[in-house]
Amino acid sequence: MTREPAEPVRLDYLIKAGAIHSMTGETYRSVGLHGPEIVAVSPEPDGLDDLAGRATVLVDAGDLTVLPAFSDAHEHLMEASRNSLMVPVGRARSVAEFTGMVSDAARHAPPGEWILTSIDWHESNLAENRLPTLAELDEAAPDHPVLARRGGHLAVANSAALRAAGVDADAPDPPGGRIGRLPGGGRNGVLEGGAVYQVAAFAPKTSRADLAGALGMTSAAYAALGVGTIREAMINLDELLAYQDAWRRGLLSVRARPMIRVGAELTADEAIALIDGLGTASGFGDDWLRIWGLKFVMDGGVEGGALEQPYADDPANSGHLNWDPAAMTRVCIEAIGRGLKVGTHAAGDRAVRTLLDVYEGVVATTGELPPWTLVIEHALLSDPAQRERAVRGGFGITVQHALLWNMGSEMLDTWGPERTRRVNPLDEWLALGAALAAGTDIVRPFNPMTNVWGMVTRGTKSAGVQGPEHAIDVATALRLYTLGSAACNGEADRLGSIAPGKLADLVAYPLDPLTASPDDLAGLTPALTIVGGKPVHDPDKRLVR
Ligand SMILES: [Zn+2]
Repeated sequence: MTREPAEPVRLDYLIKAGAIHSMTGETYRSVGLHGPEIVAVSPEPDGLDDLAGRATVLVDAGDLTVLPAFSDAHEHLMEASRNSLMVPVGRARSVAEFTGMVSDAARHAPPGEWILTSIDWHESNLAENRLPTLAELDEAAPDHPVLARRGGHLAVANSAALRAAGVDADAPDPPGGRIGRLPGGGRNGVLEGGAVYQVAAFAPKTSRADLAGALGMTSAAYAALGVGTIREAMINLDELLAYQDAWRRGLLSVRARPMIRVGAELTADEAIALIDGLGTASGFGDDWLRIWGLKFVMDGGVEGGALEQPYADDPANSGHLNWDPAAMTRVCIEAIGRGLKVGTHAAGDRAVRTLLDVYEGVVATTGELPPWTLVIEHALLSDPAQRERAVRGGFGITVQHALLWNMGSEMLDTWGPERTRRVNPLDEWLALGAALAAGTDIVRPFNPMTNVWGMVTRGTKSAGVQGPEHAIDVATALRLYTLGSAACNGEADRLGSIAPGKLADLVAYPLDPLTASPDDLAGLTPALTIVGGKPVHDPDKRLVR
Protein backbone atom coordinates (compact mmCIF):
# COMPACT_ATOMS: atom_id res chain seq x y z
CA MET A 1 0.00 0.00 0.00
CA THR A 2 2.10 2.89 -1.25
CA ARG A 3 1.19 6.28 -2.53
CA GLU A 4 1.75 6.56 -6.27
CA PRO A 5 3.55 9.81 -6.92
CA ALA A 6 4.56 10.92 -10.39
CA GLU A 7 8.18 10.50 -9.34
CA PRO A 8 9.12 8.00 -6.66
CA VAL A 9 9.53 9.65 -3.26
CA ARG A 10 12.94 9.01 -1.76
CA LEU A 11 12.40 8.29 1.90
CA ASP A 12 14.12 10.28 4.63
CA TYR A 13 13.64 7.37 7.02
CA LEU A 14 12.80 3.74 6.36
CA ILE A 15 11.86 2.06 9.63
CA LYS A 16 11.64 -1.73 9.87
CA ALA A 17 10.09 -2.93 13.11
CA GLY A 18 8.84 -6.10 14.77
CA ALA A 19 5.30 -4.74 14.50
CA ILE A 20 3.82 -1.42 13.40
CA HIS A 21 0.23 -1.12 14.65
CA SER A 22 -1.80 1.28 12.52
CA MET A 23 -4.61 1.73 15.15
CA THR A 24 -7.11 0.95 12.38
CA GLY A 25 -6.56 -2.81 12.52
CA GLU A 26 -3.51 -3.33 10.29
CA THR A 27 -0.07 -4.48 11.41
CA TYR A 28 2.86 -3.51 9.17
CA ARG A 29 6.56 -4.34 9.26
CA SER A 30 7.95 -1.24 7.56
CA VAL A 31 7.05 2.42 7.32
CA GLY A 32 8.58 5.14 5.16
CA LEU A 33 8.79 8.81 6.16
CA HIS A 34 9.38 11.82 3.94
CA GLY A 35 9.44 15.31 5.39
CA PRO A 36 6.82 15.58 8.12
CA GLU A 37 4.66 12.75 6.74
CA ILE A 38 4.26 9.03 6.48
CA VAL A 39 4.39 8.22 2.75
CA ALA A 40 4.37 4.42 2.62
CA VAL A 41 3.67 1.33 4.72
CA SER A 42 4.17 -2.34 4.02
CA PRO A 43 3.32 -5.64 5.73
CA GLU A 44 6.79 -6.87 4.63
CA PRO A 45 10.05 -5.75 6.26
CA ASP A 46 11.58 -5.29 2.79
CA GLY A 47 8.42 -4.05 1.08
CA LEU A 48 9.59 -0.44 0.80
CA ASP A 49 13.23 -1.02 -0.14
CA ASP A 50 12.59 0.35 -3.64
CA LEU A 51 11.81 3.76 -2.10
CA ALA A 52 15.13 4.02 -0.27
CA GLY A 53 17.79 6.23 -1.80
CA ARG A 54 21.32 7.06 -0.83
CA ALA A 55 20.14 9.70 1.63
CA THR A 56 17.59 7.42 3.32
CA VAL A 57 18.29 6.55 6.95
CA LEU A 58 17.53 2.86 7.43
CA VAL A 59 16.30 2.18 10.95
CA ASP A 60 16.57 -1.49 11.80
CA ALA A 61 14.19 -1.83 14.73
CA GLY A 62 13.11 -5.46 14.58
CA ASP A 63 13.17 -5.46 18.37
CA LEU A 64 10.64 -2.63 18.64
CA THR A 65 6.88 -2.19 18.26
CA VAL A 66 5.73 1.07 16.68
CA LEU A 67 2.48 2.90 17.51
CA PRO A 68 1.15 6.35 16.64
CA ALA A 69 2.50 8.85 19.19
CA PHE A 70 0.09 9.60 22.02
CA SER A 71 -2.24 12.57 21.79
CA ASP A 72 -3.16 13.88 25.25
CA ALA A 73 -6.68 15.30 25.00
CA HIS A 74 -6.45 17.33 28.23
CA GLU A 75 -3.19 18.46 29.79
CA HIS A 76 -1.69 21.72 31.05
CA LEU A 77 1.63 22.04 29.24
CA MET A 78 1.74 25.77 29.99
CA GLU A 79 1.24 25.31 33.73
CA ALA A 80 3.79 22.47 33.80
CA SER A 81 6.25 24.71 31.94
CA ARG A 82 5.65 27.61 34.34
CA ASN A 83 6.20 25.21 37.27
CA SER A 84 9.58 24.24 35.81
CA LEU A 85 10.75 27.83 36.33
CA MET A 86 9.77 27.82 40.03
CA VAL A 87 11.32 26.23 43.12
CA PRO A 88 10.39 22.54 42.61
CA VAL A 89 8.81 21.89 46.01
CA GLY A 90 6.57 19.23 44.46
CA ARG A 91 9.56 16.92 44.98
CA ALA A 92 9.87 17.65 48.72
CA ARG A 93 8.91 14.80 51.06
CA SER A 94 9.15 16.73 54.34
CA VAL A 95 8.72 20.30 55.56
CA ALA A 96 12.51 20.46 56.08
CA GLU A 97 13.12 19.50 52.43
CA PHE A 98 10.52 22.04 51.35
CA THR A 99 12.05 24.92 53.33
CA GLY A 100 15.57 23.73 52.38
CA MET A 101 14.69 24.24 48.70
CA VAL A 102 13.32 27.69 49.49
CA SER A 103 16.46 28.75 51.40
CA ASP A 104 18.63 27.33 48.59
CA ALA A 105 16.78 29.50 46.08
CA ALA A 106 17.08 32.53 48.38
CA ARG A 107 20.86 32.06 48.65
CA HIS A 108 21.08 32.35 44.86
CA ALA A 109 18.83 35.43 44.55
CA PRO A 110 19.57 39.04 45.51
CA PRO A 111 17.76 40.19 48.68
CA GLY A 112 14.26 41.42 47.98
CA GLU A 113 13.74 39.18 44.93
CA TRP A 114 10.56 37.07 45.15
CA ILE A 115 10.97 33.33 45.70
CA LEU A 116 8.05 31.53 44.02
CA THR A 117 7.46 27.81 44.37
CA SER A 118 5.85 25.46 41.88
CA ILE A 119 2.16 24.91 42.64
CA ASP A 120 2.27 21.12 42.18
CA TRP A 121 2.73 20.24 45.85
CA HIS A 122 0.45 19.00 48.60
CA GLU A 123 1.03 18.68 52.31
CA SER A 124 -0.18 15.06 52.18
CA ASN A 125 3.12 14.28 50.41
CA LEU A 126 5.12 15.79 53.29
CA ALA A 127 6.04 13.51 56.19
CA GLU A 128 4.49 15.94 58.69
CA ASN A 129 1.23 16.11 56.66
CA ARG A 130 0.88 19.85 57.27
CA LEU A 131 1.57 23.15 55.52
CA PRO A 132 4.92 24.82 56.11
CA THR A 133 4.42 27.74 58.49
CA LEU A 134 5.09 31.43 58.02
CA ALA A 135 7.82 31.20 60.70
CA GLU A 136 9.55 28.36 58.84
CA LEU A 137 9.46 30.31 55.55
CA ASP A 138 10.77 33.42 57.38
CA GLU A 139 13.67 31.40 58.71
CA ALA A 140 14.38 29.89 55.28
CA ALA A 141 14.35 33.25 53.50
CA PRO A 142 14.27 36.22 55.90
CA ASP A 143 15.24 38.77 53.22
CA HIS A 144 13.07 37.55 50.34
CA PRO A 145 9.30 37.59 49.81
CA VAL A 146 8.26 33.92 49.55
CA LEU A 147 4.98 32.75 48.03
CA ALA A 148 4.31 29.02 48.01
CA ARG A 149 1.12 28.57 46.00
CA ARG A 150 -0.54 25.16 46.24
CA GLY A 151 -2.86 24.46 43.29
CA GLY A 152 -5.27 27.25 42.39
CA HIS A 153 -6.86 28.10 45.71
CA LEU A 154 -4.30 28.13 48.55
CA ALA A 155 -0.87 29.57 49.33
CA VAL A 156 1.52 30.13 52.21
CA ALA A 157 3.39 33.44 52.29
CA ASN A 158 6.23 34.63 54.53
CA SER A 159 6.36 37.96 56.36
CA ALA A 160 8.30 39.74 53.59
CA ALA A 161 5.67 38.70 51.01
CA LEU A 162 2.80 39.93 53.20
CA ARG A 163 4.70 43.20 53.76
CA ALA A 164 5.35 43.61 50.03
CA ALA A 165 1.64 43.10 49.34
CA GLY A 166 0.62 45.58 52.04
CA VAL A 167 -1.09 42.92 54.15
CA ASP A 168 -0.69 44.01 57.78
CA ALA A 169 -2.33 42.69 60.93
CA ASP A 170 -5.48 44.77 60.34
CA ALA A 171 -5.97 44.20 56.60
CA PRO A 172 -9.51 42.97 55.83
CA ASP A 173 -10.13 39.75 53.93
CA PRO A 174 -10.56 40.34 50.17
CA PRO A 175 -13.83 39.34 48.42
CA GLY A 176 -13.96 35.56 48.06
CA GLY A 177 -10.79 35.10 50.09
CA ARG A 178 -9.34 34.68 53.56
CA ILE A 179 -6.04 35.78 55.11
CA GLY A 180 -5.18 33.38 57.91
CA ARG A 181 -4.56 34.56 61.46
CA LEU A 182 -2.63 33.13 64.37
CA PRO A 183 -4.71 32.29 67.46
CA GLY A 184 -2.98 35.05 69.45
CA GLY A 185 -3.34 37.68 66.67
CA GLY A 186 -0.96 38.36 63.80
CA ARG A 187 -0.77 36.52 60.49
CA ASN A 188 -0.10 32.83 59.91
CA GLY A 189 0.73 33.31 56.20
CA VAL A 190 -2.03 31.02 54.90
CA LEU A 191 -3.94 32.60 52.01
CA GLU A 192 -7.15 31.21 50.59
CA GLY A 193 -9.16 31.99 47.44
CA GLY A 194 -9.00 35.67 46.46
CA ALA A 195 -6.24 36.33 49.04
CA VAL A 196 -3.84 34.19 46.96
CA TYR A 197 -4.33 36.49 43.98
CA GLN A 198 -4.20 39.62 46.14
CA VAL A 199 -0.63 38.74 47.20
CA ALA A 200 0.45 37.07 43.94
CA ALA A 201 -0.35 40.31 42.09
CA PHE A 202 2.75 41.84 43.72
CA ALA A 203 5.12 39.11 42.51
CA PRO A 204 6.85 39.69 39.16
CA LYS A 205 5.33 38.08 36.09
CA THR A 206 7.32 35.47 34.22
CA SER A 207 8.52 36.97 30.94
CA ARG A 208 7.12 35.69 27.67
CA ALA A 209 10.61 34.69 26.51
CA ASP A 210 11.21 32.65 29.68
CA LEU A 211 7.82 30.94 29.27
CA ALA A 212 8.59 30.12 25.64
CA GLY A 213 11.93 28.61 26.67
CA ALA A 214 10.21 26.59 29.40
CA LEU A 215 7.62 25.34 26.89
CA GLY A 216 10.52 24.06 24.80
CA MET A 217 12.20 22.20 27.67
CA THR A 218 8.97 20.82 29.10
CA SER A 219 7.49 19.76 25.76
CA ALA A 220 10.69 17.78 25.16
CA ALA A 221 10.09 15.92 28.42
CA TYR A 222 6.54 14.97 27.29
CA ALA A 223 7.88 13.87 23.90
CA ALA A 224 10.46 11.67 25.62
CA LEU A 225 7.52 9.80 27.16
CA GLY A 226 5.86 9.19 23.78
CA VAL A 227 3.51 12.17 23.54
CA GLY A 228 3.12 13.81 20.13
CA THR A 229 0.21 16.20 20.69
CA ILE A 230 -1.18 18.00 23.74
CA ARG A 231 -4.57 19.66 23.79
CA GLU A 232 -3.55 22.53 26.09
CA ALA A 233 -6.44 22.72 28.52
CA MET A 234 -6.31 26.38 29.62
CA ILE A 235 -4.32 29.46 28.74
CA ASN A 236 -4.84 33.21 28.83
CA LEU A 237 -3.97 35.59 25.99
CA ASP A 238 -0.44 36.37 27.31
CA GLU A 239 0.23 32.65 27.38
CA LEU A 240 -1.05 32.34 23.81
CA LEU A 241 1.64 34.85 22.84
CA ALA A 242 4.26 32.76 24.69
CA TYR A 243 3.07 29.72 22.70
CA GLN A 244 3.49 31.72 19.49
CA ASP A 245 7.04 32.70 20.59
CA ALA A 246 7.91 29.05 21.20
CA TRP A 247 6.36 28.11 17.84
CA ARG A 248 8.25 30.88 15.96
CA ARG A 249 11.55 29.86 17.56
CA GLY A 250 10.93 26.18 16.70
CA LEU A 251 11.12 25.17 20.36
CA LEU A 252 8.06 22.89 20.58
CA SER A 253 8.73 19.14 20.64
CA VAL A 254 5.01 18.30 20.78
CA ARG A 255 2.09 19.76 18.86
CA ALA A 256 -0.18 22.03 20.93
CA ARG A 257 -3.92 22.66 20.57
CA PRO A 258 -4.68 25.50 23.02
CA MET A 259 -7.98 26.25 24.71
CA ILE A 260 -8.42 29.89 25.69
CA ARG A 261 -9.89 30.54 29.13
CA VAL A 262 -13.27 32.25 29.49
CA GLY A 263 -13.38 32.91 33.24
CA ALA A 264 -16.56 32.51 35.27
CA GLU A 265 -15.76 35.79 37.04
CA LEU A 266 -16.88 37.54 33.82
CA THR A 267 -20.45 38.60 33.20
CA ALA A 268 -22.04 37.18 30.05
CA ASP A 269 -21.52 40.52 28.28
CA GLU A 270 -17.84 40.63 29.32
CA ALA A 271 -17.32 37.04 28.17
CA ILE A 272 -18.92 37.83 24.80
CA ALA A 273 -16.68 40.91 24.50
CA LEU A 274 -13.61 38.72 25.19
CA ILE A 275 -14.69 36.24 22.51
CA ASP A 276 -15.43 39.08 20.11
CA GLY A 277 -11.95 40.53 20.62
CA LEU A 278 -10.04 37.28 20.09
CA GLY A 279 -9.83 37.74 16.35
CA THR A 280 -9.26 34.04 15.87
CA ALA A 281 -11.35 30.89 15.55
CA SER A 282 -10.97 27.16 16.13
CA GLY A 283 -8.65 25.52 13.63
CA PHE A 284 -6.43 28.55 13.00
CA GLY A 285 -2.72 27.77 13.04
CA ASP A 286 -0.53 25.07 11.57
CA ASP A 287 0.25 21.44 12.34
CA TRP A 288 2.43 22.45 15.35
CA LEU A 289 0.25 25.10 16.97
CA ARG A 290 -3.46 25.30 16.24
CA ILE A 291 -6.26 26.95 18.23
CA TRP A 292 -8.63 24.34 19.64
CA GLY A 293 -11.21 26.76 21.07
CA LEU A 294 -12.49 28.02 24.41
CA LYS A 295 -12.33 26.64 27.94
CA PHE A 296 -15.01 27.11 30.57
CA VAL A 297 -14.92 25.73 34.12
CA MET A 298 -18.30 24.68 35.55
CA ASP A 299 -17.27 23.42 39.02
CA GLY A 300 -14.35 22.50 41.27
CA GLY A 301 -12.36 19.29 41.39
CA VAL A 302 -12.15 16.59 44.04
CA GLU A 303 -12.65 19.50 46.45
CA GLY A 304 -15.48 21.67 45.18
CA GLY A 305 -16.88 19.49 42.38
CA ALA A 306 -20.66 19.99 42.15
CA LEU A 307 -22.25 16.72 43.30
CA GLU A 308 -25.86 15.47 43.23
CA GLN A 309 -25.36 14.06 46.76
CA PRO A 310 -23.34 15.77 49.53
CA TYR A 311 -19.68 15.10 50.20
CA ALA A 312 -18.95 11.96 52.21
CA ASP A 313 -16.80 13.91 54.67
CA ASP A 314 -19.07 17.00 54.85
CA PRO A 315 -22.85 16.43 54.63
CA ALA A 316 -23.46 20.20 54.43
CA ASN A 317 -21.36 20.53 51.27
CA SER A 318 -22.27 19.46 47.74
CA GLY A 319 -19.76 21.61 45.86
CA HIS A 320 -20.26 24.72 43.77
CA LEU A 321 -21.29 25.71 40.24
CA ASN A 322 -19.34 28.61 38.70
CA TRP A 323 -21.67 29.56 35.85
CA ASP A 324 -25.29 30.59 35.68
CA PRO A 325 -26.63 28.17 33.02
CA ALA A 326 -28.65 30.80 31.15
CA ALA A 327 -25.67 33.17 30.97
CA MET A 328 -23.32 30.42 29.84
CA THR A 329 -25.78 29.24 27.19
CA ARG A 330 -25.85 32.75 25.75
CA VAL A 331 -22.03 32.98 25.72
CA CYS A 332 -21.67 29.57 24.07
CA ILE A 333 -24.13 30.45 21.31
CA GLU A 334 -22.06 33.56 20.55
CA ALA A 335 -18.87 31.47 20.58
CA ILE A 336 -20.28 28.89 18.14
CA GLY A 337 -21.44 31.73 15.89
CA ARG A 338 -17.82 32.99 15.76
CA GLY A 339 -16.40 29.58 14.85
CA LEU A 340 -15.12 28.69 18.31
CA LYS A 341 -15.50 25.25 19.86
CA VAL A 342 -16.22 24.97 23.57
CA GLY A 343 -14.79 22.58 26.17
CA THR A 344 -16.09 22.79 29.73
CA HIS A 345 -14.62 21.35 32.91
CA ALA A 346 -17.37 19.41 34.69
CA ALA A 347 -16.10 17.05 37.40
CA GLY A 348 -19.14 16.27 39.56
CA ASP A 349 -22.44 14.74 38.40
CA ARG A 350 -24.42 17.90 39.24
CA ALA A 351 -21.99 19.90 37.07
CA VAL A 352 -22.36 17.37 34.24
CA ARG A 353 -26.17 17.59 34.43
CA THR A 354 -26.07 21.39 34.44
CA LEU A 355 -23.63 21.45 31.53
CA LEU A 356 -25.92 19.14 29.55
CA ASP A 357 -28.72 21.67 30.13
CA VAL A 358 -26.42 24.37 28.73
CA TYR A 359 -25.24 22.39 25.71
CA GLU A 360 -28.75 21.21 24.84
CA GLY A 361 -29.87 24.83 25.05
CA VAL A 362 -27.09 25.84 22.66
CA VAL A 363 -28.01 23.17 20.11
CA ALA A 364 -31.68 24.14 20.37
CA THR A 365 -30.62 27.52 18.95
CA THR A 366 -27.75 26.63 16.61
CA GLY A 367 -29.12 23.35 15.26
CA GLU A 368 -27.04 20.18 15.07
CA LEU A 369 -23.28 20.81 15.36
CA PRO A 370 -20.32 18.80 14.05
CA PRO A 371 -18.91 16.22 16.50
CA TRP A 372 -16.46 17.61 19.12
CA THR A 373 -17.84 21.16 18.85
CA LEU A 374 -19.22 21.05 22.42
CA VAL A 375 -17.05 18.97 24.76
CA ILE A 376 -17.42 17.78 28.34
CA GLU A 377 -14.03 17.75 30.11
CA HIS A 378 -13.60 14.99 32.75
CA ALA A 379 -17.17 13.97 33.65
CA LEU A 380 -15.53 12.16 36.57
CA LEU A 381 -18.98 11.39 37.99
CA SER A 382 -22.03 10.80 35.82
CA ASP A 383 -25.20 8.73 35.97
CA PRO A 384 -26.72 6.59 33.19
CA ALA A 385 -29.29 9.23 32.23
CA GLN A 386 -26.58 11.88 31.89
CA ARG A 387 -24.40 9.60 29.77
CA GLU A 388 -27.37 8.86 27.55
CA ARG A 389 -28.06 12.60 27.12
CA ALA A 390 -24.41 13.33 26.30
CA VAL A 391 -24.31 10.67 23.59
CA ARG A 392 -27.68 11.65 22.15
CA GLY A 393 -26.57 15.30 22.05
CA GLY A 394 -23.39 14.41 20.18
CA PHE A 395 -21.16 15.93 22.89
CA GLY A 396 -17.62 14.50 23.04
CA ILE A 397 -16.08 13.63 26.41
CA THR A 398 -12.41 13.86 27.36
CA VAL A 399 -11.50 11.30 30.04
CA GLN A 400 -8.44 11.17 32.30
CA HIS A 401 -7.81 7.99 34.24
CA ALA A 402 -4.65 9.70 35.52
CA LEU A 403 -6.85 11.81 37.83
CA LEU A 404 -8.22 8.69 39.54
CA TRP A 405 -4.66 7.27 39.56
CA ASN A 406 -3.29 10.40 41.22
CA MET A 407 -6.14 11.40 43.55
CA GLY A 408 -7.93 8.12 44.28
CA SER A 409 -7.17 8.47 48.01
CA GLU A 410 -8.58 12.01 48.17
CA MET A 411 -11.67 10.84 46.25
CA LEU A 412 -12.20 8.02 48.75
CA ASP A 413 -12.04 10.55 51.62
CA THR A 414 -14.25 13.24 50.08
CA TRP A 415 -16.61 11.34 47.75
CA GLY A 416 -16.63 7.94 49.46
CA PRO A 417 -15.93 4.46 48.05
CA GLU A 418 -19.13 3.99 46.00
CA ARG A 419 -18.60 7.14 43.95
CA THR A 420 -14.84 6.63 43.66
CA ARG A 421 -15.18 3.22 42.05
CA ARG A 422 -17.46 4.62 39.33
CA VAL A 423 -15.22 7.55 38.37
CA ASN A 424 -14.86 7.67 34.55
CA PRO A 425 -16.62 4.37 33.68
CA LEU A 426 -15.14 4.08 30.20
CA ASP A 427 -16.85 0.73 29.55
CA GLU A 428 -20.28 2.28 30.15
CA TRP A 429 -19.57 5.26 27.93
CA LEU A 430 -18.28 3.01 25.13
CA ALA A 431 -21.30 0.71 25.38
CA LEU A 432 -23.45 3.76 24.53
CA GLY A 433 -21.24 4.66 21.58
CA ALA A 434 -19.83 7.82 23.18
CA ALA A 435 -17.11 9.86 21.47
CA LEU A 436 -14.20 9.68 23.95
CA ALA A 437 -10.68 11.08 23.92
CA ALA A 438 -8.09 10.14 26.55
CA GLY A 439 -5.64 12.34 28.40
CA THR A 440 -4.06 13.04 31.77
CA ASP A 441 -4.70 16.52 33.31
CA ILE A 442 -1.77 15.85 35.65
CA VAL A 443 0.26 19.04 35.02
CA ARG A 444 3.64 17.38 34.60
CA PRO A 445 5.24 15.01 32.11
CA PHE A 446 3.42 11.74 32.81
CA ASN A 447 4.05 8.36 31.21
CA PRO A 448 1.08 7.66 28.88
CA MET A 449 1.63 3.92 29.37
CA THR A 450 0.95 4.30 33.11
CA ASN A 451 -2.35 5.89 32.09
CA VAL A 452 -3.06 3.02 29.64
CA TRP A 453 -2.27 0.53 32.40
CA GLY A 454 -4.76 2.39 34.60
CA MET A 455 -7.53 2.27 31.99
CA VAL A 456 -6.92 -1.45 31.54
CA THR A 457 -6.65 -2.39 35.24
CA ARG A 458 -8.34 0.57 37.05
CA GLY A 459 -5.17 0.67 39.16
CA THR A 460 -4.15 3.83 41.04
CA LYS A 461 -1.07 5.31 42.69
CA SER A 462 -2.07 4.75 46.31
CA ALA A 463 -5.76 3.76 46.42
CA GLY A 464 -5.51 0.26 44.97
CA VAL A 465 -7.84 -0.90 42.19
CA GLN A 466 -11.04 1.18 41.93
CA GLY A 467 -13.99 -0.22 39.96
CA PRO A 468 -12.29 -3.04 38.01
CA GLU A 469 -15.65 -3.67 36.27
CA HIS A 470 -15.05 -0.44 34.30
CA ALA A 471 -11.74 -1.58 32.77
CA ILE A 472 -11.30 -1.56 28.98
CA ASP A 473 -8.85 -3.47 26.78
CA VAL A 474 -5.42 -2.20 25.68
CA ALA A 475 -6.35 -1.74 22.00
CA THR A 476 -9.34 0.41 22.95
CA ALA A 477 -7.31 2.47 25.44
CA LEU A 478 -4.67 3.13 22.78
CA ARG A 479 -7.35 4.07 20.25
CA LEU A 480 -8.94 6.64 22.62
CA TYR A 481 -5.46 8.08 23.25
CA THR A 482 -4.59 8.43 19.53
CA LEU A 483 -7.53 8.43 17.11
CA GLY A 484 -9.95 9.58 19.82
CA SER A 485 -7.89 12.65 20.63
CA ALA A 486 -7.24 13.36 16.94
CA ALA A 487 -11.01 13.39 16.38
CA CYS A 488 -11.43 15.72 19.37
CA ASN A 489 -8.92 18.06 17.71
CA GLY A 490 -10.75 17.85 14.37
CA GLU A 491 -7.76 16.27 12.64
CA ALA A 492 -8.50 12.55 12.42
CA ASP A 493 -7.56 12.83 8.73
CA ARG A 494 -4.01 13.98 9.65
CA LEU A 495 -3.15 12.30 12.95
CA GLY A 496 -3.94 9.39 15.25
CA SER A 497 -3.08 6.42 13.05
CA ILE A 498 -0.27 5.12 10.85
CA ALA A 499 -1.17 5.50 7.17
CA PRO A 500 0.28 7.19 4.08
CA GLY A 501 -0.59 10.91 4.08
CA LYS A 502 -0.72 11.16 7.85
CA LEU A 503 1.79 13.13 9.89
CA ALA A 504 4.77 11.07 11.01
CA ASP A 505 4.16 11.03 14.78
CA LEU A 506 5.40 7.67 16.01
CA VAL A 507 6.49 6.03 19.24
CA ALA A 508 8.37 2.72 19.59
CA TYR A 509 8.58 0.35 22.56
CA PRO A 510 10.80 -2.59 23.40
CA LEU A 511 7.72 -4.80 23.79
CA ASP A 512 4.36 -5.01 22.07
CA PRO A 513 1.72 -3.34 24.28
CA LEU A 514 -1.06 -5.25 22.49
CA THR A 515 0.30 -8.64 23.57
CA ALA A 516 2.25 -7.75 26.74
CA SER A 517 0.90 -8.44 30.19
CA PRO A 518 -0.93 -5.28 31.39
CA ASP A 519 1.35 -5.09 34.44
CA ASP A 520 4.37 -4.67 32.14
CA LEU A 521 2.76 -1.49 30.75
CA ALA A 522 2.74 0.55 33.97
CA GLY A 523 6.45 1.40 33.77
CA LEU A 524 7.01 0.93 30.03
CA THR A 525 8.86 3.85 28.43
CA PRO A 526 9.60 4.46 24.75
CA ALA A 527 12.84 3.63 22.94
CA LEU A 528 12.06 6.27 20.36
CA THR A 529 9.65 9.13 19.65
CA ILE A 530 9.24 10.87 16.28
CA VAL A 531 7.06 13.96 15.83
CA GLY A 532 6.52 15.39 12.37
CA GLY A 533 9.20 13.13 10.91
CA LYS A 534 11.79 14.49 13.37
CA PRO A 535 13.35 12.37 16.11
CA VAL A 536 12.44 14.11 19.39
CA HIS A 537 13.55 11.23 21.64
CA ASP A 538 16.28 8.93 20.39
CA PRO A 539 18.54 7.93 23.29
CA ASP A 540 20.11 5.03 21.33
CA LYS A 541 20.76 7.21 18.28
CA ARG A 542 18.84 4.84 16.04
CA LEU A 543 17.76 7.63 13.70
CA VAL A 544 21.19 9.15 13.24
CA ARG A 545 22.60 8.51 9.79
ZN1 LIG B 1 -7.42 20.48 33.51
